[in-house]
Amino acid sequence: MLKSEELKELLAKPKRIVITTHYKPDGDALGSSLGLYFWLVAKGHHVNLIVPSDFPAFLDWLPGLENVQIYTQNMDLHNQQIDAAEFIFCLDFNGLARIHDMAEPIRQAKGIKCMIDHHLDPEGFEDYAFWDPSAAATAQLIYRFLTYEMQDSEHISADMATCLYTGIMTDTGSFRFRSTTAEIHRIIATLIDCGARNWAIHEEIYNSSSEGRLKFLGFCLLNRLEVIHEYNTAIIHVTKADLTQFEVITGDTEGLVNYALSIKGIRLAALIIDRNEQIKLSLRSIGEVPCNEICKLYFNGGGHLNASGGNSKESLEAVVAKFRSVLPNYKEILTK
Ligand code: 5GP
Ligand code: MN
Repeated sequence: MLKSEELKELLAKPKRIVITTHYKPDGDALGSSLGLYFWLVAKGHHVNLIVPSDFPAFLDWLPGLENVQIYTQNMDLHNQQIDAAEFIFCLDFNGLARIHDMAEPIRQAKGIKCMIDHHLDPEGFEDYAFWDPSAAATAQLIYRFLTYEMQDSEHISADMATCLYTGIMTDTGSFRFRSTTAEIHRIIATLIDCGARNWAIHEEIYNSSSEGRLKFLGFCLLNRLEVIHEYNTAIIHVTKADLTQFEVITGDTEGLVNYALSIKGIRLAALIIDRNEQIKLSLRSIGEVPCNEICKLYFNGGGHLNASGGNSKESLEAVVAKFRSVLPNYKEILTK
């Protein structure tokens, strides 16, 4: 395993680098990737930022977004870039399954693989790891990586600060989750000093819904929310027809699961969506209820203790039924 000092040495001269992040990148995935992108480019490296899929519309204002390439739009070109890369930075994921079609090209690539991430259970594909599952966001780890591992404290441009702020803000639920430490607030203060316009970022992310998105939210709360009082659990399921009816686009379902969790007394919330290719689950919990264990054991996924995701090839009805059938196994912790 490569050490930080060795990596720092190797990055002292311009290199060909690929940065990638997980499928359907969220604010932290894109924010941390663009933050690192700006730094590497400023150091003279040749960088391709390649993501496995499209991303939410509420991120379409991020600085540097014109440099984000979507793998499936030109696989031949991106496979060449991956093959030619001397370094591959893998951000905000630690299992290759999370990058879907890019998994095999990245697995087989000769470049040095650097994983920077905060999820549990790394698969171990990397040559260098900067990993801390107690970190709130990968953007926080990018800040630490540049400041302490690369020892470059003069590095943060306003654009970088904006991207890292976005990553930390979105992964901490706007500085609400338990992961929001004093260190987070100190980093955030520095990022504001460096030019992140915090109020403008909040505006871009949270006040940018389409009318349709809000109506879809209203529809789900009225027609698709089910509370299982016996297990202090709430489920929102979304059918294929719902997605079509409300013309739901990537990002429109972000945050929906939190409404289910916001009901007083609810300790576990599930959002179960019938996406075209598969059923996607998002779980959120309070306290010790282990979302990640439930996703790992039953839904082919994982994540953090209080926020995890998974998927299934079964029908929507079957997945909802399976989720309900799992609840008795957690009765004690759900009703504590
Ligand atoms: P979300 O529910 O927002 O999609 O994801 C919540 C958390 O679980 C995120 O940290 C995300 O990275 C992780 N996660 C989401 N889907 C999956 C999955 O299919 N597999 C794994 N291992 N983690 C996931
Ligand atoms: Mn993250």
